[in-house]
Amino acid sequence: MTDKVELVNDSRSFSTETGENILGAALRQGIVIPHNCRNGFCGSCIGLLHNGDVEYEGDERPRALSEEKEKEGFVVCCQAKTNGDILLEVETIDAVADTEIKTLPCRVSRLVKLADDVMLMMLKLPPHEKFQFHAGQYLDILLRDGRRRSFSMASSPSSELIELHIRKVPDGSFTGEVFNEMKEKDMLRIQGPFGTFILRDDNSRPAILIAGGTGLAPLKSMLERVREQGCDRPLHLYWGARDVRDLYFHQELNLWTKELDCLTYTPVLSEPDAAESWSGATGWVHEAVLVDFPDLQGVDVYASGPPPMINAIQNTFPEKGLQQGHFYFDSFEYASDGA
Ligand SMILES: Cc1cc2nc3c(=O)[nH]c(=O)nc-3n(C[C@H](O)[C@H](O)[C@H](O)COP(=O)(O)OP(=O)(O)OC[C@H]3O[C@@H](n4cnc5c(N)ncnc54)[C@H](O)[C@@H]3O)c2cc1C
Repeated sequence: MTDKVELVNDSRSFSTETGENILGAALRQGIVIPHNCRNGFCGSCIGLLHNGDVEYEGDERPRALSEEKEKEGFVVCCQAKTNGDILLEVETIDAVADTEIKTLPCRVSRLVKLADDVMLMMLKLPPHEKFQFHAGQYLDILLRDGRRRSFSMASSPSSELIELHIRKVPDGSFTGEVFNEMKEKDMLRIQGPFGTFILRDDNSRPAILIAGGTGLAPLKSMLERVREQGCDRPLHLYWGARDVRDLYFHQELNLWTKELDCLTYTPVLSEPDAAESWSGATGWVHEAVLVDFPDLQGVDVYASGPPPMINAIQNTFPEKGLQQGHFYFDSFEYASDGA
């Protein structure tokens, strides 16, 4: 049984199979709807239903959808299944439609502790295999029991090895394994690339890049790309961390600002150690951005990292002038199995 999904602002349409969610069906047919966590948490894939009906597993409204929004006709495409043909208004992104989603074995070629709770993991693909992605996208590590864990590529798409920055989550099953058991030369299975968190190159507006902790990873990948290709717009990177010891890429970023005229970099510490002298910005990273940019009219904001940071930006930046459609984010939501 298939249903047809017609798009309001795109001449293409696609079909959903029984049990398939709208996002999965669209991606399968080469139509990319913005997406991020694919758990119904982050809200990146929200669309507006103009006609027809959808349903959710167990009739449970996804966390990203308020009761009010649901009444207005909004749907969360990574969880919604069609109930007959529908007419849907949702953004589509052609820039990432050319990447093939692959499942590949790979070898852990390096494991280096960058900070107390951050591990650098370098992955090597089998000879002659390519894993093409756009800077800012992420992959899933497929675990033996069927669970999956998402991590953003921190390396340039042109790099031979894939670089990940993995933060140890307290009681985290996979990240615990990375810190306590995993060794170089271990094998992993990855799937990807996923996500639509990429630098839009259809405008030259200044962009504010905001990272929280390992949220630096996708932004580093974008900046690696900028270092290779040059840039035609100002980029302001803000990196929030607890303490100076957590700024695991601080020196390199300072060097990059000397190399790239378009780049400025502001580290922001939320809990600087009193014993260490720190004369830089302190507090929450999004608040430090607003001190420097009290008016956000005419800029783009790209943010990645913990969900509370993303929520704080979503809640405060629009009233400071950030326009609808100028905010792109990668929210590091947790896997829904929680195990
Ligand atoms: C698109 C995307 C990209 C991501 N990219 C990165 C990345 O580049 N680097 C990175 O370090 N992380 C990233 N994450 C987050 C990462 O996927 C999770 O931290 C990871 O899945 C935790 O796995 P685990 O098995 O160790 O924890 P689990 O065993 O699944 O969780 C254990 C407990 O910790 C909680 N928990 C899980 N994850 C977190 C978290 N991140 N923060 C706080 N509590 C948590 C759970 O709710 C649970 O109670 C990304 C997430 C998404 C959705």
